[in-house]
Amino acid sequence: MKVGIIGLGLIGGSLGLDLRCQGFEVLGVSRREKTCNLALERGVVDKSSTSFSLLKEADVVFICTPIEAIAPTIERLIPHITPQTIITDVGSVKASVVESCSLLWDNFVGGHPMAGTAEQGIEAAQKDLFAGAPYVFTPTESTPTESLNKVEQLARSLEARIYICSPSAHDRAVALISHLPVMVSASLIDACESEIEPEVLQLARSFASSGFRDTSRVGGGNPELGVMMAKYNRQELLRSLSQYRQSLDKLIDIIDREDWETLEAILSSTRTARPRFLS
Ligand code: NAP
Repeated sequence: MKVGIIGLGLIGGSLGLDLRCQGFEVLGVSRREKTCNLALERGVVDKSSTSFSLLKEADVVFICTPIEAIAPTIERLIPHITPQTIITDVGSVKASVVESCSLLWDNFVGGHPMAGTAEQGIEAAQKDLFAGAPYVFTPTESTPTESLNKVEQLARSLEARIYICSPSAHDRAVALISHLPVMVSASLIDACESEIEPEVLQLARSFASSGFRDTSRVGGGNPELGVMMAKYNRQELLRSLSQYRQSLDKLIDIIDREDWETLEAILSSTRTARPRFLS
């Protein structure tokens, strides 16, 4: 099977490394000549080009560009491929991407490999990035079953854990465990920074240790990624933020009323619940 990859960055490059190891011929297309050359040098692809015509014989094409470029990339790819070619994407948000891409190409399967690092670009590509990580596919009623099976088989060869759900269920779940934590963590840093007493602010900065490091990590990351989450998963992020505000209001009320019994019951239940998300 010939596999095409467009966007040879962290995710596209890592996919190329693993799929070549599995014996697939990997054809890579990227915007910049330099990236194409690096991909060849690093063994990410068998052939690379800045031209979509390289993909005319690909059986499956993975679109691994930033989210806003996924649909425009498919539009540019279409003149070079046949109707049998399966197109899949790796975007971290699914409902809006699946809606626009399915309109452009019948043989489209939405996907999201849930693995990554803090780095970007072809230099950050690494082997076995997807092993043991969830790989979610989000078919719709019109997604061809055979195409879904084919991309699922490719994801299984990466030793990823496969999940199938609707694009909206994906976006709602990802809002809760990925996008909400970024906003909560950012607002924690913002709340600390809004301390008006300079001496207290300075002491807080000096005293901050492992607890603050853990809870502030994702809020102190790449601002572009946070904006991307809010922009492309706006409805679900707003829903999860409202749920979070209700939880906060409940805690404020309990502490205000000095209801220590209820507070202890809540903290016991969150201690029991945490491993369910992390096992
Ligand atoms: P990345 O390392 O920045 O790679 C993206 C590549 O796409 C770049 O190497 C670039 O190629 C190309 N590109 C950039 N802007 C483009 C544009 N406007 N039009 C066409 N090509 C463009 O990003 P990534 O982290 O791999 O993310 C790629 C996709 O994976 C995104 O849709 C993201 O949502 C998804 N994803 C990311 C993660 C993660 O943790 N990073 C996890 C799961 C899914 P050139 O070098 O040739 O310019």
